[in-house]
Amino acid sequence: MFIKRLLSSFLTSTLLSASFLSLTACSYEVGNAPTPTPVIQPEAQSQPEVMFEADITPSPQPFQFSLPTPGAEPVTNWRPPLYPAPWAIAPYDHFYFTRPIAADQKNWPAADYRYGGVFFGRNIVHTGIDIPSPEGTPILAAGPGAVVWADWGLFMEIPGDNTDPYGLAVAIRHDFGYNDQQLYTIYAHMSLMNVIKGQHVETGEVIGFVGSTGATTGPHVHFEVRLSDNSFFHTYNPELWIAPPQGWGVLAGRVTDEKGELIQQMEILVAPERA
Ligand SMILES: [Zn+2]
Repeated sequence: MFIKRLLSSFLTSTLLSASFLSLTACSYEVGNAPTPTPVIQPEAQSQPEVMFEADITPSPQPFQFSLPTPGAEPVTNWRPPLYPAPWAIAPYDHFYFTRPIAADQKNWPAADYRYGGVFFGRNIVHTGIDIPSPEGTPILAAGPGAVVWADWGLFMEIPGDNTDPYGLAVAIRHDFGYNDQQLYTIYAHMSLMNVIKGQHVETGEVIGFVGSTGATTGPHVHFEVRLSDNSFFHTYNPELWIAPPQGWGVLAGRVTDEKGELIQQMEILVAPERA
């Protein structure tokens, strides 16, 4: 399947009329893969606008959304293997990271509280994804880099603050960037950390264990991708940065009215561009 639509990050999203659909999508087809950029000059760069032309024409009719009927739940713990990272097979792909939870168990985010979710209030935007793994599940470095935070207090940036909503958290400044800007990943709510600040880690290294420290409703890892600045104001949708299981893909989007207000209960049709 090949899907190509308007790319618009939640943080840089444009306001679209009610009949426009803003979709973020990624394709999976062997081709020339761009490699992560090594240059790291965070303060000298501006935020990138990742925009691509949409080939969706405005329509007065609601878009329709249909999905195949889900099959039966798998009877084993087998999961599709993950693509190796970086997995970037089109110019607008940037699957530079592996998943922070291993592929032999459930390692996808909670569907009802994805990036950009406002479940806890209109002004409390979810800046990452939550993977609800059992307490003690190893948390893996999503890519190589230096540990720049391994402590309580990451959310408020107050080291040692055990009232911080992120609980015990680790931040990694990666060895590569994107568009010459620095990339960071964040892992929050750990029960235990396995790294110290200043340590260098490789992809897949165990950096800690799933817990429920900080503000949580249960054990999970809260995972963020930050670009250019290690701040929650500079997060991007992690699902567009972590390599999907083989044969799977990522499609994300939002439908808003001309004021940028989310439209609820709208039907959207998603179809491959070619058979
Ligand atoms: Zn979260």
